[in-house]
Amino acid sequence: MILCSRCILPETFPNIKFDSEGICNHCRQDESALAKAPSKKADYRQKLDELIASIKGNAPSYDAIMAYSGGKDSSYTLKLLRERYNLRVLALTFDNHFVSPTAFENIRAVTDALHVDHISFKPPWPLMKSLFGLTARDDIFSSATLLRASSMCTACIGFVKSLTLKVALEMTIPLTAFGWSPGQAPIQSAIMKTNASLIGSNQKALIKSLPDTLQAQMKSYFIPDDYYVTYKERFPTNIHPLAFFPYDEEKIKRELESIGWKAPTNTDTNSTNCLLNAYANQVHIERLKFHPYVWEIANMVRQGVMSRTEGMEKIYSPQNPEQIEYARKKLDLT
Ligand SMILES: [Zn+2]
Repeated sequence: MILCSRCILPETFPNIKFDSEGICNHCRQDESALAKAPSKKADYRQKLDELIASIKGNAPSYDAIMAYSGGKDSSYTLKLLRERYNLRVLALTFDNHFVSPTAFENIRAVTDALHVDHISFKPPWPLMKSLFGLTARDDIFSSATLLRASSMCTACIGFVKSLTLKVALEMTIPLTAFGWSPGQAPIQSAIMKTNASLIGSNQKALIKSLPDTLQAQMKSYFIPDDYYVTYKERFPTNIHPLAFFPYDEEKIKRELESIGWKAPTNTDTNSTNCLLNAYANQVHIERLKFHPYVWEIANMVRQGVMSRTEGMEKIYSPQNPEQIEYARKKLDLT
């Protein structure tokens, strides 16, 4: 298989083109933006400092709600919000029934070490089983969405985003924080006021892509129509600080270990917290012929926050067969 000689995107990635040097169109497009990245990152750090200075302590209960998986990126973001900014943070974990036991231990250790209140939200298993079963069989999302994540991941993240926002609106929390890696979400969206009408239309699209029975069962997890009017002034600002703070996986792990976080050993190479991930990856690779994390990892290689060798290892190693089997069995899929 031909891979971009710079960023590791494969020839099977939709609409990719390589030039005479074997470099892909995505790398070429990003060249000028990457040259400006260091000063842009500094601007965003200042922007976040200013934003936080303007909101800190004003809300009735919490300054920020953090979508918290227990993985290294969200743990590190949580640490940053507590130690650098001393924010009052509520951590929210979406329990999709595949959270690894180590992730739960990490959640407990990190929230205790950082003095953070934590809540966990777990929909009933039959509902999650139907949703993951559905997304394992069919790609119900747009092809643009599937360039960046598997169907199963997209469905799950849809829940996470929606619940985080819903709690923020109900509790008047001005910041919603996410631990997206620098490859997962662009710096341009790293500090952004939530756009109520955009969220409304995204949610409608997500709900519409589900079968009627699931739509009815899942309705309460989404933002009710009247919130767009009643809580119009409360729509929070989304932040994902890892887009503009120094990002070095090994250093992040070491810093987290100092507050009791442990690197899980039983998940796949791209997730340190979810036991569904290897299966979700495998299904995506078989169906679409490229790894659902390749976009993210290629971005990180291009940005120089991950070495090409490490990126290759993460993307082009086989998925752990025991993990695939574990998830397939649990979902009763053949
Ligand atoms: Zn490339």
